[in-house]
Amino acid sequence: MIRELENISIKQLCKVIERLAPTMDDYLYVYDIQNDFYYIAPDAAERFLLPGHTFQNAIQMHEQFVYPPDLEQFQKEMENLLTNQQTIQNIEYRWLSKTKMPIWINCRGYIIREENTPLYLIGCINEIGTKQKADNISGLLGESSLRAFFETSLSTSFHGYVLRLDLDDFKEINEKHGIEYGDRILRKTAQCISSVISPDQKLYRIVSDEYLILDTTGGTMEDALKLYKKIRQTLELFVEENHYEAVITISGGVLESCDIEEYSYSNIMKLSEFALNEAKRHGKNRCYLFSIQDYQQFLWKNELSRLLRKAVNHNFEGFEVYFQPVFCMNSNRLYGAEALMRFYTKEHGFLPPGEFIPILEETGLIIPVGKWILHQALAACKKMQEHIPEFRISINISYIQIQKSDIIHEIISAVKEHLISPSYVIIELTESGMLESNSHFTKLCSKLNEQGISLALDDFGTGYSNFHYLYDLHPDIIKIDRNFTAKALQNDYEYHLLSLMSHMIHHLDLRICVEGIETREELHRIQEIQPDYSQGYYFGKPCSYTEFTQKFLSC
Ligand code: C2E
Ligand code: CA
Ligand code: CA
Repeated sequence: MIRELENISIKQLCKVIERLAPTMDDYLYVYDIQNDFYYIAPDAAERFLLPGHTFQNAIQMHEQFVYPPDLEQFQKEMENLLTNQQTIQNIEYRWLSKTKMPIWINCRGYIIREENTPLYLIGCINEIGTKQKADNISGLLGESSLRAFFETSLSTSFHGYVLRLDLDDFKEINEKHGIEYGDRILRKTAQCISSVISPDQKLYRIVSDEYLILDTTGGTMEDALKLYKKIRQTLELFVEENHYEAVITISGGVLESCDIEEYSYSNIMKLSEFALNEAKRHGKNRCYLFSIQDYQQFLWKNELSRLLRKAVNHNFEGFEVYFQPVFCMNSNRLYGAEALMRFYTKEHGFLPPGEFIPILEETGLIIPVGKWILHQALAACKKMQEHIPEFRISINISYIQIQKSDIIHEIISAVKEHLISPSYVIIELTESGMLESNSHFTKLCSKLNEQGISLALDDFGTGYSNFHYLYDLHPDIIKIDRNFTAKALQNDYEYHLLSLMSHMIHHLDLRICVEGIETREELHRIQEIQPDYSQGYYFGKPCSYTEFTQKFLSC
C-alpha cells in the first residue's frame, strides 16, 4: 500500500483525503516536505486553531496551534523524522482548539522517502479525549456512537421507539461481589438483550449499567413493552442458572417516536431518562411508558420547586399563614386556631397545599419554611391572646422536619421567645412517615410532653391509622380526618365506628377533634358522639390573620 502511494501525486492524495474525511472522525493529513505544503482534512480547520486546512511553512505554522508547552516535543519528533532517524511518527500532544483550549491528540504517520530524501509525511490525527466509541466490557457500541448515529442518520425524525434500560441497584452487586463480577454481569446483560432484539434494532451501552435500544422500524409502545418483558425473562433465566448468586433486575423507560417533538440527541436522551427514572421511582423492575402529561407534571413540579426555593431565598415572599378556627363543643366557644400554610405567586395565584407541601418535603425546603411558619403562628397567637388569653394555636409539623432538623429544640425555644405558655401550643403530627422514623417521633412526643406542649395526632382514620400510636406517642388530642367525618355522615357503619372511636379515645383519657364539619346538620349529628373540639367550614374557612381577628376576635 505504501509502495503504491509513492506513485500518487500530492494532488491526488489531497483529493483522497477530502473524499474520506466525511466518513471518518479522525483527521487524515499529508505533508509535502519538499514543497513545504501541509494538507489536512477540512474538518480539522473547524475544530483547531489552524490557519486553514492547507498551508505552507508547516513546521513554523505549528507554533500557532500547538499548545505551547508541547511545542518542543513536536519539534524534536519532526527533526527525527526529517533527518532519517525515524520513519514512523507516533506522538501524543496537544493542539489548541478554535476556542484556544488544549485538546489531546494522537498523531500517527509514516514518512515516504526516495533514497534518503523525505518526500511526504502522511498520517492521521485523532482526539484521545473523546469518549470511547465502543465499550469493551459489553462489546456494544457506546454513547458517542449513539450520538453520532442521531446526528448523522436521524437528524430529522424516525418511526419507532427508544427503550432505555438500567440494572437496578447495580452498585450493590459491585460492592458485594467486586468489579470483575460486576463486569461479568454487564456482559451477560448485554448478551441477554442482544439475544432478544431483532437484527434491525440497535443496542448501545450508554454508561455503566445503562443500555439503550433504538427501534427505527416502526415499533410501537406495545412492542417495546413486549421486548422489555422478554429481556426481563432472559435475565431471570440467567439469575436462575446462576443459582441466585446475584439477583439482578432491570428497569425500562420507553419513548415512542410520536411523543418526540424535537428529534435532537439531547432531547431524546432527556425524555428517555425521564421515562427510566419514572420506572425507578415506581419501584424498579418495571417498565414505564412515556406520557406527555406525566412529563408536563414533572416539569411543573420542577418549576414549583424553583418558585418555592426562590421564595425561601427572598425572605419567604409569597408564603403566608392562614388560620382556621377550632371550636370547643362543651362551651360552644372559640378554642383556638390551626395555622395552615399558604403559598402565592403572581403568575399562579394561591397554590393548593396538597400540591406544594409534598414538594417542600421532597426538597427539604419544609425545614426553613416550617420554622418560619412556627414563628409566624406563635407571634400571631401571642397577639390573639390579647383578646382571648386562653387562645390555643395548633401548628402542623412534617415528618421531614422531625427526621432532618432539630425541631424539638426549635419548638421549645420559639415558644419561649414568643413568651407563650407551652400549654397553649399544640403540635399536630400526621401518621404518614411515622413508620420509618418511629424513634424520632417517640422522642419528640416525650420531649413535648415534658415541656407541657400538647400533641395532636392528625388525619386519624385515613388508612395509616395504627392504634399503637395512641400508646406509643401519648398524644393529647386525636384529630379525625375530614374524609372520615364525611363517610361517617353518609354511612351508618362508619358513623358507628366513629362513635366507638370517640368512646375509646375518651376512655384512654384523650380528647377528640372532629374535622370537616360543613353544615349545621352535620354539626348536630357529630355532637351526638360528643367530640371535645370541632373544626370545619361551618365554623369558618382558613383565612388571613386580619380576617380572622375581624371575624372571631373583635367583640
Ligand atoms: P390538615 O392538617 O388536615 O388541615 C386541614 C385541612 O382541611 C385544611 O386544608 C383545611 O382547609 C381543610 N378543611 C378544614 N375544614 C374543612 C371543611 O369543612 N371542608 C373541607 N372540604 N375542608 C376543610 P389545607 O389548608 O388545604 O391543608 C391541607 C394539608 O396541608 C393540611 O391538612 C396539612 O396536612 C398540610 N399543611 C397545611 N399547613 C401546613 C404547615 O404549615 N405545615 C405542614 N407540615 N403541613 C401543613
Ligand atoms: Ca392539621
Ligand atoms: Ca387534619
